[in-house]
Amino acid sequence: MKIELSTPIKEIPKIGPIYQKRLKKLGIKTVRDLLYHFPHRYEDFSNLKKIAQVKVGEKVSLQGKILEITNTQTWKKKMILTQAIVADNSGSIKIVWFNQPYLVNVLKKGNFISLSGKVTFDEYGLYLSNPAYEKISHSELDTSNLIHTGRLVAIYPETERLSSRWLRKIIQKILIKIENKLRDFIPGEIIKKFNLFPLKEALWQVHFPDSLNSAQKAKERFSFEELFLLQLYILRERLALKRERAVSIPLNLELVKNFINSLPFELTLAQKRSLFQILKDLEKPRPMNRLLEGDVGSGKTIVALIAALNVARAGYQIALMAPTEILARQHFKTSSYFLRNFQVKIGLLTREESLVFGEQKISQISRKKFLQKIKNGEIDFLIGTHALIQKEVEFKNLALVILDEQHRFGVEQRARLVKRQEQPFLPHLLSMTATPIPRTLALALYGDLDLSLLDQLPKGRKKVVTKIIPPEKRKLAYDFIREQVKAKNQVFVICPRIEKRENENLNLSEVKAVKEEYEKLSKVIFPDLKVAMLHGRMKAKEKEKIMKDFKEKKIDILVSTSVVEVGIDIPNATIIMIEGAERFGLAQLHQFRGRVGRGEKQSFCFLFTESSSKKTRQRLEALLTCENGFELAEKDLEMRGPGEIFGAKQWGLPDIAMESLKDVSLVEKARNSAKEILEKDPELKKYPLLRKKLAEFKKRVHLE
Ligand code: ADP
Ligand code: MG
Repeated sequence: MKIELSTPIKEIPKIGPIYQKRLKKLGIKTVRDLLYHFPHRYEDFSNLKKIAQVKVGEKVSLQGKILEITNTQTWKKKMILTQAIVADNSGSIKIVWFNQPYLVNVLKKGNFISLSGKVTFDEYGLYLSNPAYEKISHSELDTSNLIHTGRLVAIYPETERLSSRWLRKIIQKILIKIENKLRDFIPGEIIKKFNLFPLKEALWQVHFPDSLNSAQKAKERFSFEELFLLQLYILRERLALKRERAVSIPLNLELVKNFINSLPFELTLAQKRSLFQILKDLEKPRPMNRLLEGDVGSGKTIVALIAALNVARAGYQIALMAPTEILARQHFKTSSYFLRNFQVKIGLLTREESLVFGEQKISQISRKKFLQKIKNGEIDFLIGTHALIQKEVEFKNLALVILDEQHRFGVEQRARLVKRQEQPFLPHLLSMTATPIPRTLALALYGDLDLSLLDQLPKGRKKVVTKIIPPEKRKLAYDFIREQVKAKNQVFVICPRIEKRENENLNLSEVKAVKEEYEKLSKVIFPDLKVAMLHGRMKAKEKEKIMKDFKEKKIDILVSTSVVEVGIDIPNATIIMIEGAERFGLAQLHQFRGRVGRGEKQSFCFLFTESSSKKTRQRLEALLTCENGFELAEKDLEMRGPGEIFGAKQWGLPDIAMESLKDVSLVEKARNSAKEILEKDPELKKYPLLRKKLAEFKKRVHLE
């Protein structure tokens, strides 16, 4: 039959229903998926010896003829031994397999065989123990067709009962069938320029490498492949954006100055610089695409507010989208407060609420009226959650979109916000994030996206005392917390998960579910204190009430999921304790820590961990010495890889690409190649294969 990369696995005659099912569980549905299921390591069986040369303790490969093979039962351990004698022209050796009685049906007297395993000497005598084996057709020392022995052998992450042995065999069969039909979608000139393996060679070498070096080179080619597609994707989006029009918003300096003078604090230099960059961008008739990046508490919101003010007073609309309802509500309140004297009509839209601020007061109106007001332009500044990108929301003249706590592209979100609008221009886009993005990753993911940095905290912020709390110190920490509460301070408790999921195979013993933790703290540890909980599955109203009570100091201890991670502002909270700290990234822990230390008093961050691993400890210790979010993010990237940091696992990029995002030089190569190709041929007319591949890539990844 004809096999191509796109052929579904179920059409391969060699793969029966059981194996199809197992493959499917690994997400392997096509020939391509199977060939792109890479080994995670290689066993070195290339030490090929004559039988007479082998030494006890050595890992060797040898080849010979089976002189005899039989099963015997050991009465002592109730095990079945398969024993064979194998000989080459230098001598013979005993082979022993444990509990694989079926082998006598596969390996027969007189067969030639290749074996790889450890030479052992014990109560059974001198023998090769449990070796990997494969039949060979003829005489000795032929390694060219071997796949399981006598060479570097691929070991696959063994899951879903797919053995490496089975995978090697099927992959070899398919590769032989398909190799001459493989067409490489990476243009030949790029393959040549960077001395990459062409597709065919890369596939052979990744599964059946001649050396570790060429295995590495094969992997590099596949990393490049993904990065190259990613870069093409990003650059094409950007090119498309450059052709779009946006409204130019004149800078009203008078207004901006008045507003800044109305603030109860002075802007930091970094805030002023970033603000200026944004206002300048807004003046251009091309859509802005800017990322405002700044550590927790660096004051991103106010910068965005000033930009919004300038746009609103120029007669256009602004949409600010926050990841959670709590945060959207907080932004609504902050904005209503700061902009109270500046004639901006502000609306809040979440799944459950529609509120308007205008004429100095907040009022609740019906959703229908609310949507009408947006459409008429009676709301200048719309704040909300993902509710904003629903179909029914129509703007009159949306000119600026602000995405808070957004470390992804934003490009598609903007597209969804404006797609249905009648307006002939695209809104400007400002994304804000407190997750510091290491340079490498920023380059890989955002390309030359414009970046404004808030690398300075407002004056007077106090250093938060950070401590790692091992199990035996837990009680002491609780005592300390009690004292703090007696002194009228408040406490955040962060738990990593809401409740245990079924079939969860993570070690959840360390992870305290919010509910359990709440029960424990409220009933056992602090029955005399006021403990409350907050998590994502509660109703917006309930959450709101709890946040309000916490703000008004009616609650001492708030047990919560990581929802408090983003943006919440409670100056009287002086302690944050984080359960299962090892389960979070450093940058994220740093964000949690940013929830305290906002007032006058000394604040504390306690990292609880049950893990006794040295590596975990070392990682957490970085937080004790380092207060800079960027440095921590770099460390995270080094230690955990990009997938963990941004939840990028869900983007659909394969592991191999995630890993290679760390590799600056490869990212740069991919980037330059993509640029070169697009400069010559923006529509990829001369590269139909690449164009098709890119379309597939777009479907496969979801960077929003
Ligand atoms: P983030 O950058 O983490 O989003 P926010 O914008 O929420 O930070 O700001 C944190 C707090 O700092 C807010 O209460 C805000 O009003 C305040 N703030 C912002 N800029 C300054 C400044 N220049 N000086 C003092 N306080 C500021
Ligand atoms: Mg914020």
